[in-house]
Amino acid sequence: MIYIDDDLKIITQYAWIFANLPEIKKLTYEAIRGTELEEYLLNLEQRYPAKYVKTGHVTFITVENKEKLASEFTENDQVILQKISDAIDQNYDNSIESKWGSSNPNVHADMARWAGERNGVSGANLNAIANNADAPDLSTWNYGTPGVGRYYDHYYGPVKVGPVTLMLGAAHTKTNQFIQEARKGNNTYVNIGYATHYMCDISNPLHANKATDQVLTVLSDQHTKYETYMSGNWTNGQNYSRFAQNVGWQKTITNPTNDVTILSAYSGSYADTVYNCMKNNQFNNSSLFYATIFCVDEGQGYLIGLVQYGLN
Ligand SMILES: [Zn+2]
Repeated sequence: MIYIDDDLKIITQYAWIFANLPEIKKLTYEAIRGTELEEYLLNLEQRYPAKYVKTGHVTFITVENKEKLASEFTENDQVILQKISDAIDQNYDNSIESKWGSSNPNVHADMARWAGERNGVSGANLNAIANNADAPDLSTWNYGTPGVGRYYDHYYGPVKVGPVTLMLGAAHTKTNQFIQEARKGNNTYVNIGYATHYMCDISNPLHANKATDQVLTVLSDQHTKYETYMSGNWTNGQNYSRFAQNVGWQKTITNPTNDVTILSAYSGSYADTVYNCMKNNQFNNSSLFYATIFCVDEGQGYLIGLVQYGLN
């Protein structure tokens, strides 16, 4: 969990751009590399370096020279930070924050519905799960982690920053957040629907690994290609939906946060295969086929377990 100093948020709603974790900032710099926006941000960070205070699972982020920032921050700074925010959105929304499939067919809704059915949910309750499974991808979504780009919550996996590998993303904690709401009896089926979204995202290998490559190759955009491939082969072509619908097992979910990290390691291990097939336009590759059915099967088994956990 990260928490950005409220004083900074009062100065600008874009404080998350400079007061953020190093791995997030690295992605920000990749969005603005070689532009005057990069020069501006480097200079801003030099004058007001980020400071991190860790207590338990929470990292509190603020900056040095905070009072100076408050007095020197201008309308022009605000305009430039907004441009940086726009550049991040443009570069990443289609690369990391895309989904298993586009809205028609709706892979999220189908997988959530089948997970509900396996748990004996029917009627309006089943519709509530399925109809809300795609909600976190909509621009109207209001429950994202504050201070990070929209893509961040839908990803969980390793990212290499220099010599170290950090775990990036919040799909594991977002799954847990909504499934715990469901367990409290709070809008149970809607919250189960929301929770399935994040777990389902992580069954897609490109939501579980290779964030850096995906960002660096925005122009070729293998992620969007895979999404399009999945949409075209969900009920047609390879008909991947049959592997989700006919799953014969379920994962026992006991600790959703941790269980999503295990799922991420599984699907992430297929990221190279999927990524390279997309990059080389090898859509009829058998490795791609098997990687996809393994991950669809795994994801569906986890979702059945997640719904059961949410109903307890
Ligand atoms: Zn998503």
